[in-house]
Amino acid sequence: MKILLTNDDGIYSPGLNKLAYKLKEELGEVLVVAPDRERSGVSHSITFIQPIRLFLLKDDKIKFYATTGTPIDCILLALYQLKFKPDVIVSGINRGANLGEDIIYSGTTAAAREGAILGFPGIAVSLDCYNEYPFFETAIRVTLEFLKNICWQYFPHRVYFNINVPNLPWEKLTGVKLTYQGKRVYKNEIEEMKDPWGRPVYWITGAPPKGILEEGSDLAAVSRGEVSITPLQLDYTDYKLLSNQVCKKLFISPRLGEWPIIEIQS
Ligand code: MN
Repeated sequence: MKILLTNDDGIYSPGLNKLAYKLKEELGEVLVVAPDRERSGVSHSITFIQPIRLFLLKDDKIKFYATTGTPIDCILLALYQLKFKPDVIVSGINRGANLGEDIIYSGTTAAAREGAILGFPGIAVSLDCYNEYPFFETAIRVTLEFLKNICWQYFPHRVYFNINVPNLPWEKLTGVKLTYQGKRVYKNEIEEMKDPWGRPVYWITGAPPKGILEEGSDLAAVSRGEVSITPLQLDYTDYKLLSNQVCKKLFISPRLGEWPIIEIQS
């Protein structure tokens, strides 16, 4: 199996390094292309208004390349500059869960999504860990089990999976669930600080996000100690709203014809 490995925590993240060697040992060829620094929260950003550098950092059974770009830049450089054609793109192990709407902000899930866009299956793996001791070994074992068991040919072409692992030793996991994307509750705050010249600077912060523990959701699974696996899709269309009868009420615009009146029913 040919695996392209990236992340958004940066090339020096222990989650990436340990996973790379395990994948190599048990599954085959691995190429690592990852950002040279932490890029958490960059989502699907791509660098095209300035150049990107690519450095071969280590070449010992696995080639480790660092880039000055984002996770998406890493995927593009691996595919089109290093000419690596992976069977799967793996992004992680991220330190911190990517549950509910986190996936909108996450560079980890974005890298897996880029795979799906370009026709390569992708998985994003995150560990539900903030300041406590990280059980990366558990998430690595989950990743290996997933990759050993999945048969990509049974899935639609542009599928990608978001995997979240509770921060527990392997023996303490309570199961594995196929889930849907849940709902986060964020408590954002802005902290004002002073730079060395006394000018105000701002830090976006807040308490660690909570979530609504709806049955079947990714958040509920992880809160119970279960590994959560969510199949994701590229299409953002709200199909419920598209077929909503209220949406079909129309008014006439003299120039443009019929406009739908959108009334969101609560
Ligand atoms: Mn991250």
